[in-house]
Amino acid sequence: MRMTRRQLLIGAGAGALGVLLVSCTPEPKPTPTATNTGTPSPLPTTAVPAPASSVRSTWGSDPYSRGAVSFTRVGVQGDARERLAEPVEGRVFFAGEATDADNPGTIRGAIHSGESAAMRLRASALAGERIAVIGAGLAGAAVAASLRDADLQVTVLEARESVGGRTPSRVDDEWATPIQLGGWLLPALAEGEEAGREELGLPETVELASALWRAPDGDIEAVATTPLATAITAAGKLPTDVSLAEALTDAGADLEDPSLAGLLAYLTTTAGADAESLSSWFPPALPSAALRAVVGDFDAHIRELLSNAQLTLSTPVTRVAYDDAGVSLRLGTGESTSFDRVVITVPLGVLQSERIDFSPPLPFTHRGAINALGMGHIEMIWLRYDEPFWDTDATIWHSIGGEADQLVRTWINLQPSTGAGILVGVVGGAAAEEFAELDEQAALVAALTSLAPFLPPETD
Ligand SMILES: Cc1cc2nc3c(=O)[nH]c(=O)nc-3n(C[C@H](O)[C@H](O)[C@H](O)COP(=O)(O)OP(=O)(O)OC[C@H]3O[C@@H](n4cnc5c(N)ncnc54)[C@H](O)[C@@H]3O)c2cc1C
Repeated sequence: MRMTRRQLLIGAGAGALGVLLVSCTPEPKPTPTATNTGTPSPLPTTAVPAPASSVRSTWGSDPYSRGAVSFTRVGVQGDARERLAEPVEGRVFFAGEATDADNPGTIRGAIHSGESAAMRLRASALAGERIAVIGAGLAGAAVAASLRDADLQVTVLEARESVGGRTPSRVDDEWATPIQLGGWLLPALAEGEEAGREELGLPETVELASALWRAPDGDIEAVATTPLATAITAAGKLPTDVSLAEALTDAGADLEDPSLAGLLAYLTTTAGADAESLSSWFPPALPSAALRAVVGDFDAHIRELLSNAQLTLSTPVTRVAYDDAGVSLRLGTGESTSFDRVVITVPLGVLQSERIDFSPPLPFTHRGAINALGMGHIEMIWLRYDEPFWDTDATIWHSIGGEADQLVRTWINLQPSTGAGILVGVVGGAAAEEFAELDEQAALVAALTSLAPFLPPETD
């Protein structure tokens, strides 16, 4: 339904702003779950109506992810991910999106990494062995599912109270679709292309085929990724790696150009880092014009993949001791437990934070890779409207140029696919770090301010 532009006070009645649920395990202390139930402090006004409710992510401060996705920093050796994926003494195996060289930082990469680690483990393991998998995200679930028909006893140890890691689905009756606060977007399938093997088991997806690029003076043509591709090709011939930003400048692109800046803002929502930090020799996947969004329940899917393993929730692993006879894991409770082999799927950010102590220390090749790769930032905010204020059926919105206070420049409109007034803001890189530091009210105001370009023209 169409509404006229008007000033609305965001305040009491604006709806509770939920925050990403993270684990409530005793150690380490997780980010507390919070809902906006306190007395509202004085609030600024925004032109965009307040939603009935909203939910946001806080991955930057989540102790079990420490960021959103891994990225390849400028100057990093190209084989860092392969080195991280190497098993240590045939006892300690690694999986997780950061270990996948082909599709790092993605749902697809996480699943593929789990399948690869399981294959490597099967080559060493003997029948009846006890295998620990640390982490019940997509990679851990893929390990467990791939070992289903092996004669092995698989135990999955997860720090959080729930499975899903960086693909958590929150089912709430008020929302027409599960709230996805982590990975949920995939490139659209090309004509005639079929989903890859690793995607066949994913929850239901919907197509997001129509994009809207909105500048202050009106809508513009979709911004092509050609300048990025050209700059990357040229930088690939240089004797040393340069950042994507430098590659673009060298290729004659103007980083201040609003269209290019808008495209780069979109890139950060999947790469997690800004062009100044990204390698041009090992660049992230270029942004897709059309997408698919997971609208099914990831948690149910992951539980199904884990159904043949023993799953232990709220159990952070704090120490991994290994030798040629086996592996001993110390848990957050202080207890230790023994296994023949372990597959570690925790995020790169957790490995970098040294929350897991390795004894003996991991080989230099692993430590070098862990320190060299970057952990990027992506945050999301879901807004639910009883009466949508927008008048477009486009499903992917981009805000180009305009006011600098538009922190969230990429929006997904789920109204066409769900029939409900749901908008999802996605922000990456430095803007995501800035967004994550805002308190709940300020984050909501920042989101609504960012939506101003999408208000319909005045009618009164
Ligand atoms: C905001 C956001 C948006 C994203 N958008 C997309 C997207 O649109 N498309 C896409 O393809 N990908 C996207 N991704 C990336 C995608 O979600 C990840 O690549 C993928 O989910 C990673 O899976 P994983 O199993 O490797 O790691 P995780 O899902 O993080 O699983 C690791 C598990 O280990 C657990 N753990 C951590 N420490 C310990 C410990 N000490 N002991 C025991 N358990 C521990 C964690 O709790 C977690 O459950 C996004 C990610 C985020 C955060």
